[in-house]
Amino acid sequence: MEPIQHIFPLLLQPKKIAITTHMKPDADAMGSSLALKNVLEQLGHQVTVISPTNWAGWVNWMQGADEVIDYEKDKTIADQLLDQIDWLFCLDYNHFSRTKSLAEKLKSISCTKILIDHHREPDETSFQYGWSDTSKSSTCEMIYDFINASGNANKLNEAVCECIYAGVVGDTGSFRFPAATSNVHLLVADLKTRGLNHEKVHDKLFDNFLENRLRFTGHVLLHRMEVFYEYNTVLIAIPKSDLLKYQIKTGDTEGLVNFPQSIQGMKLVALVIDRDEERKWSFRSKGTFDCNSFARRFFEGGGHYNAAGGRSSESLEDTIKKFKAAMKENKSQLQ
Ligand code: 5GP
Ligand code: MN
Repeated sequence: MEPIQHIFPLLLQPKKIAITTHMKPDADAMGSSLALKNVLEQLGHQVTVISPTNWAGWVNWMQGADEVIDYEKDKTIADQLLDQIDWLFCLDYNHFSRTKSLAEKLKSISCTKILIDHHREPDETSFQYGWSDTSKSSTCEMIYDFINASGNANKLNEAVCECIYAGVVGDTGSFRFPAATSNVHLLVADLKTRGLNHEKVHDKLFDNFLENRLRFTGHVLLHRMEVFYEYNTVLIAIPKSDLLKYQIKTGDTEGLVNFPQSIQGMKLVALVIDRDEERKWSFRSKGTFDCNSFARRFFEGGGHYNAAGGRSSESLEDTIKKFKAAMKENKSQLQ
């Protein structure tokens, strides 16, 4: 993988470009993709964003979200487009497997592939150019750096600033995680100087739900949460029946995993949701518990040191048993 700076001179010739991101894109994935699209279009490129799956409604306010292709819905159109592109950007994921049914297509096409990502253990051999930096708060922060370093700071318009800010807020837990460095705060200061309305973005991200979602949250915290004080661990397990009863949609469960971190002394929070095709895990830790290794070892997943995800094809009951055994095995790291 050659350094990303090597593509800067090549940005001057107009190209056909696709930007892809991970399945069920969150604020960072969608924000970084749409911010980059906006800037590349200002440079004269023809750009399409393709998401491997659908996404949460609370990113639909971002400029350009209405033109994003959902690969599961419009596979034929996306495949045709991918056959014609010069460049493929891969944002906010480290491995093609994170793009679900899109993975095979992305592997097979022969265009130039460019990675920009902050997850651990990237598959560097799949990309001609790239930048992987696990110290970065978010892919949006990296896109901001990319825009500046390539001499395009004058293209940070209102829409781009909003997208970047949304991703940074999302991935830093609103500036509370260790990844919210002084550089992140300097980035925000610059966006503010450029006229960013941060209140609007917070409103769109956090105060944009229906009543059922809040009632679902209350139900889950009351009935589906187990605290293991001996292991400083909290587990939330959500059966399919809860999702149906409260009409839970993509994105409605975002943030749920953060609530138990407010209990004194907790080191690990695990959330498992019984989705149709799989049991989806989210892990959050504080301090020295390595969620990335834990998710990789026990739940076919990965991510960051203090935030990771994984999956299981076993039943909800069995995957919970597996979690409890894994928790016991990790007792010394959790104390
Ligand atoms: P979340 O719990 O918010 O879904 O994900 C937390 C972090 O872990 C995100 O950065 C996400 O991209 C990553 N992640 C989530 N699920 C998986 C997975 O199955 N595999 C890998 N490698 N990373 C994941
Ligand atoms: Mn991210």
